[in-house]
Amino acid sequence: MAYKTIYPYNNEVMQEYDNASDADLEQALTAGHQLYQQWRQDDPQNRSQILLNIADLMQKKRDDLARAMTYDMGKLLTEAQGEVDLCIWIAQYYAEHGAELLQPVPLKTKQGNAYYLKQSTGVIVAVEPWNFPLYQIMRVLAPNIMVGNPMILKSASICPMSVQMFADLVAESGAPAGTLTNLFINYDQVAKAIEDPRVAGVCLTGSERAGTSIAATAGKALKKSTLELGGNDAFIILDDANWDELKEVVPQARLYNAGQVCTSSKRFIVMDSMYDQFLELLKNAFSQVKMGDPMDSSTTLAPLSSKSAKDKLQSQVNDAIAGGAKVYYGNEPVDLPGQFFQPTILTDIDHDNPIFNQELFGPVASVYRVHDEAEAIQLANDSSYGLGGTVFSSDVEHAAKVAAKIETGMSFINSGWSSTPDMPFGGIKNSGYGRELSSLGIEAFVNQHLVLKP
Ligand code: NAP
Repeated sequence: MAYKTIYPYNNEVMQEYDNASDADLEQALTAGHQLYQQWRQDDPQNRSQILLNIADLMQKKRDDLARAMTYDMGKLLTEAQGEVDLCIWIAQYYAEHGAELLQPVPLKTKQGNAYYLKQSTGVIVAVEPWNFPLYQIMRVLAPNIMVGNPMILKSASICPMSVQMFADLVAESGAPAGTLTNLFINYDQVAKAIEDPRVAGVCLTGSERAGTSIAATAGKALKKSTLELGGNDAFIILDDANWDELKEVVPQARLYNAGQVCTSSKRFIVMDSMYDQFLELLKNAFSQVKMGDPMDSSTTLAPLSSKSAKDKLQSQVNDAIAGGAKVYYGNEPVDLPGQFFQPTILTDIDHDNPIFNQELFGPVASVYRVHDEAEAIQLANDSSYGLGGTVFSSDVEHAAKVAAKIETGMSFINSGWSSTPDMPFGGIKNSGYGRELSSLGIEAFVNQHLVLKP
């Protein structure tokens, strides 16, 4: 497996990296374990400065980091800059709140004076994807620094430039050796790391395929795992939805990051009475995108992350059409050298269509017509995924009641998906298990250590 940055805008190979050796892995495990033993003696509050230093340096290098992400996987530079800002926010959030979130918790028990500590557990292996090269890392790095769990990182093989730049920045910020070790390792080495006794757990963000493999390795080695996997999220539009708000929300909900977000709205479920009107709204939004240079601030739709991502999406759309789906808009070749995909609207997807229960990772919207709210809820739940979704209605309280009936990890009322440090992120069913961010995320890899005093 070669770690390579190929700029998806023009297919230029910008940088290639050597794979790490087993000796590199051993060194990382040794450094991480030594740091864990030191950190477990220290007060978490002492580690907040590490995060603040990282945040400061990210602020200084904001544009370099953002450009590297754009080169790695093609996202719009403006979106990459926003991603750096979000990383800074996450680092600052855990620096400010981490120690408090890790305070011992008193327990009411008849046995005596009991409480539980929240202690570090050891080195964590993080396996992360390419769609948000730095945000995905920060989601797990920041809380685990506060907990006192050093991290070994295996990033996606297509985004080494930004990830290595970030790992170098962590070292430059003065964080102790072993805080974050980025290794360009292969799958066997990832398994070897998970199995190592010095490693306490593994967190993965990625596909179901990767989740199955990582969870199996972790299970066999009796290691804790958290999985943030794909989604096929429903965006339910009730009869009383506000069209002006919808017009604002829908394009971003599907097209942000070229549609390559686990929580992108992928299935639009629309009441019969508004179906035609909604298709027009979507077509209008999709036909106005400007594809082109992701570094140019006037570009509104970036290329997909790689040739294989584009080929996969095209083959899924082809399968959908062969299976009876209709193209309402799009699915035409884009006359640009990069990995661009024209925004596409599919309708008439029945239950037997091959893509009915698949994640389409790119700017393709599936639109479903339903006749009442119960049918909308039933269709939203007819999925092996359960990550996040939206309910749109002028009656916010009613929309919240509908949202509560959806089998999913996150629901957004009258807005598309969003992620901030203080809100938990994660899913159910084949979208994975565990939560990242907020007070829940910081507990993913802590030892909830009970102490009972007489
Ligand atoms: P992917 O192919 O599963 O890769 C994710 C990471 O796992 C990469 O670092 C990959 O390395 C590694 N990997 C894959 N199989 C592995 C194995 N058997 N052993 C060890 N490492 C393995 O997913 P992706 O295409 O990069 O990312 C897109 C997926 O991530 C989508 O399904 C998306 O929905 C999901 N996602 C979920 C969330 C969430 O929070 N729920 C957030 C973002 C993305 P290589 O690159 O070297 O193959």
